[in-house]
Amino acid sequence: MKGSHIQKTLEDKVKRLAKEMFDWEMNKPVLISNRMKRTLGQYVWIINQDTKRPELVRFQFAAKLFRDGYSEEDIELVIKHELIHWYTDTIEGRPCHHNEIWKANCRRFGILDSRLVDLENNKNRQDYKWRYQCTNPKCGVIYNRYRRIPKNYVCGKCRGVLREHPLSSVVRPI
Ligand SMILES: [Zn+2]
Ligand SMILES: [Zn+2]
Repeated sequence: MKGSHIQKTLEDKVKRLAKEMFDWEMNKPVLISNRMKRTLGQYVWIINQDTKRPELVRFQFAAKLFRDGYSEEDIELVIKHELIHWYTDTIEGRPCHHNEIWKANCRRFGILDSRLVDLENNKNRQDYKWRYQCTNPKCGVIYNRYRRIPKNYVCGKCRGVLREHPLSSVVRPI
């Protein structure tokens, strides 16, 4: 696939997800960077000098995300992680980074609320195959498991509903 084609596909995907998730139009640049080595995605923002609020400049994604065998789900997870940064900062009117509000929004949109969505640590991960996160916003505890757990299992701490994440799709956005 040619680079320009990948870029266009990615840009369309970012726009579509912004629309689906928040009903927002995303019309800032979406770039693919060869220089991003340790991270897969980035939400670039500035403080608008008039409003004093964070403002989206662009999204950028590592080129390796499109050539190193990442699945569609991996790519979508990275995009959602970055979109939720944009959404949270815009709604809150201040940079939230990976704070509790950002985490609550991740749970709301069904993605892991961890910045350690991490592929490079595959080796340290002891080959867990599944990760479960409690959907109760007050709990949010994460369980790693070698085997898939039955659907009717609930959170051991709060009896909340668990959301399942296959660990093949664990990647590292920032
Ligand atoms: Zn829980
Ligand atoms: Zn992040």
